[in-house]
Amino acid sequence: MNNISFEDLNLAPEILRALTESGYTVPTPIQAQAIPLVLEGCDLMAGAQTGTGKTAAFALPMLQKLLPLATPSPSPARHPVRALILVPTRELAIQVEASVQAYAKHSHLRSLVVFGGVDIKTQTPHLRTGVEILVATPGRLLDHIEQKTVQLNQVQMLVLDEADRMLDMGFMPDLKRILALLPKQRQTLMFSATFSNEIKRLSEDFLVSPRLIEVARSNATSENITQKVYLVGHAEKHDLLAQLLRGSDAKQTLVFTKTKLTASRLARQLHREGFAADAIHGDKSQLERIQALDAFKQGKTAVLIATDVAARGLDIDHLPMVINYEIPSAPEDYVHRIGRTGRAGASGMAVSLVAPEEEKYLLEIEKLIKTTIQREAPLPTRSPAPAARAPRAESRPEHHVHIRAQHTPVSKTPVHDAWFNKPYEPSASTRVVTPPRDLPSKPKSQLPALFMRRKANPSDAED
Ligand code: AMP
Repeated sequence: MNNISFEDLNLAPEILRALTESGYTVPTPIQAQAIPLVLEGCDLMAGAQTGTGKTAAFALPMLQKLLPLATPSPSPARHPVRALILVPTRELAIQVEASVQAYAKHSHLRSLVVFGGVDIKTQTPHLRTGVEILVATPGRLLDHIEQKTVQLNQVQMLVLDEADRMLDMGFMPDLKRILALLPKQRQTLMFSATFSNEIKRLSEDFLVSPRLIEVARSNATSENITQKVYLVGHAEKHDLLAQLLRGSDAKQTLVFTKTKLTASRLARQLHREGFAADAIHGDKSQLERIQALDAFKQGKTAVLIATDVAARGLDIDHLPMVINYEIPSAPEDYVHRIGRTGRAGASGMAVSLVAPEEEKYLLEIEKLIKTTIQREAPLPTRSPAPAARAPRAESRPEHHVHIRAQHTPVSKTPVHDAWFNKPYEPSASTRVVTPPRDLPSKPKSQLPALFMRRKANPSDAED
């Protein structure tokens, strides 16, 4: 049980004030465990799923440790990079830095985010003014190192966030290069949703006698996410998706596809059918991605179709539903995908549409999460009776009608902490306003100058 308060964690008044303003009342389990260890100076290997509050788990003690060095001095020399947070994607980088900024707002500590896909020159002047906390994607950080626009010789704290995804995305060589440039004497914290052997090796290479903490079984999925599977022919997926979207009262739904092509096609089709839908993937410009995400977060778009990499790290308050239009071939990706919902104690729904050729992946997923996911009976068809339509090859009974509805109850493991069962109450400032879903939207957002120019950066290549 987690009965401790933020005050019990000995955080400074300026941090506590920022937390109150963020609407946080009690630490999440990962925060309660990690904060004292980080304050003690231990290296940390933390197994925490997205949505558990892991950002604050490293950011709060980081700020607390850097507070004595904070200064109102305008001199860049007085604001060297003292903490480096490496993350796999731009979206996560933006979110992590926004959190750091919110928690640091009553201190003189400065933070900045740098990532690829935007003109590096727009970032350099900000770096030159001096920042204590730098959030970066590995590729772009190396670009800055090469251009000598950043110095890392005073880094005393390193965070590798979503380390498993950084490895999946091939960032290992970049990480090694960056780590070789950091002072040996430092504290390193590694966060990962899944624990593979590769992650264990990484922790052996980069951490010194790390303390291991886990808030949920590794590779497990959150207890407050209801998972369902529809076994369905590939050709019927679109109709089923539309039915699910119409039939659900979820105000926002994130839909995953395997490819950028399917994501774009699906968004176009749904849009034609009257859904406020948009797609987010690696072929979209940074500006388009930020606009699409903005519109979704504000509730102007009801359905966001995403590929794995583009959706990584998305933190959307109260996201009620995730649909896997195609399930991933890597079972870990399933854990990441459905972790977009059910965040910070809220309940969520994760629905997967599984074609016969995908069933082998479903079995792999169930093995990883040690759970049999409930098979749902097909929804009654609303469109004209099949006989009235020209039959399509994939809509033959073996795929469509003979859905093996097993109705296996979702196996439950004991709840780790009552906190997870409590409905999540966001602060008023973060509440999502949702207009009717079928109005196509033309999102307008006030974008920082940083995002306005775009330049491809191969080291941040995605999906
Ligand atoms: P994270 O796992 O860091 O991505 O956090 C997921 C969400 O939980 C974010 O929207 C945070 O703002 C929120 N959050 C983090 N810590 C707390 C807390 N102690 N109380 C309430 N919400 C929190």
